[in-house]
Amino acid sequence: MVSGTKLMEKILYGVAKQWIAGETIDDALESVRDAYKKGRHAIVNKLGEYHTSKPLIIKTVKEYQLISSSFRKWKVRGAISVKPTQVGLSISRKECLRNFETIIKNASLSHTFVWIDMESSDHTDETIEIYHNLFARYERLGLAIQANLKRTKNDLIDLLEYGAKIRLVKGAYNEDGKIAYKSKNKIDENYLRLMKLLFRDGNEFGIATHDSSMINQAIRLSKIYERKFEFQMLKGIRDELKPDLARKGFVVSDYIPYGTNWLPYSIRRVKERKRNILLLGSSFIQSHRV
Ligand SMILES: Cc1cc2nc3c(=O)[nH]c(=O)nc-3n(C[C@H](O)[C@H](O)[C@H](O)COP(=O)(O)OP(=O)(O)OC[C@H]3O[C@@H](n4cnc5c(N)ncnc54)[C@H](O)[C@@H]3O)c2cc1C
Repeated sequence: MVSGTKLMEKILYGVAKQWIAGETIDDALESVRDAYKKGRHAIVNKLGEYHTSKPLIIKTVKEYQLISSSFRKWKVRGAISVKPTQVGLSISRKECLRNFETIIKNASLSHTFVWIDMESSDHTDETIEIYHNLFARYERLGLAIQANLKRTKNDLIDLLEYGAKIRLVKGAYNEDGKIAYKSKNKIDENYLRLMKLLFRDGNEFGIATHDSSMINQAIRLSKIYERKFEFQMLKGIRDELKPDLARKGFVVSDYIPYGTNWLPYSIRRVKERKRNILLLGSSFIQSHRV
């Protein structure tokens, strides 16, 4: 007999499968190939965060190295996206920096672009410091910044002075109202403000959103400022829109997570949208019917 927790996990995995490639590197590479066939680029992320076990961190670093080398072998356009706390930030800044160096040195051999994901506001300062340190030596490196944080406009102005490559997101973490915008309206307003700055003063950036009104604003701005940028969306979300953008000549990248640690990522996706909660509910009801 399946326990309540196991059943819940099984149902959640059924829903989560639309957003993740699977559990192994091969699953991730298969999804990369699939995205490539559809005319899209791919950004691979190994799931997992807040690692404090050194063997686990070493394993994670090795997997990112293997993925970078595989892109070249498979002749696909790919990038990797790494969370600082999965490669040592929960131990120390020094540990994290050392591991990023290893990943980036290997990535640069295969011309793989590396993105640094941005985690909760507890890590913003350290993550920006790490980015500055590495970007001074490695050019093919980008950083995610979050429109829900009030500090981000100043961070962006500063980062753009150094020519930083930015991925603009709304922000996936629940932050305190003292430091963050909480309503969708305020976050969208700030997203638009930051996007305008990016188009005016930046180059080589990612507009990472599924929000049609933000995407339309980006298209409008791209007609005023000729910039190298791409749309980035999560695997399995807005799949109906992606071919349309690609047909119009925009670069679209699929963010493809893989790994066994899929639960926190999937819970964030469920919380993002009421309809996903309903989807989870109906999967639960169906599982009780059989
Ligand atoms: C490529 C990429 C990388 C990211 N990297 C980071 C990062 O490093 N740090 C970080 O904090 N956050 C990251 N995020 C997540 C981001 O911060 C948001 O939480 C997430 O993208 C939802 O915001 P939205 O821009 O899509 O807008 P929302 O206002 O949340 O949604 C707008 C519309 O998009 C559609 N939509 C949004 N989410 C879903 C969903 N789950 N299922 C179905 N439809 C949906 C719906 O139509 C919705 O009405 C990343 C997102 C992307 C796309």
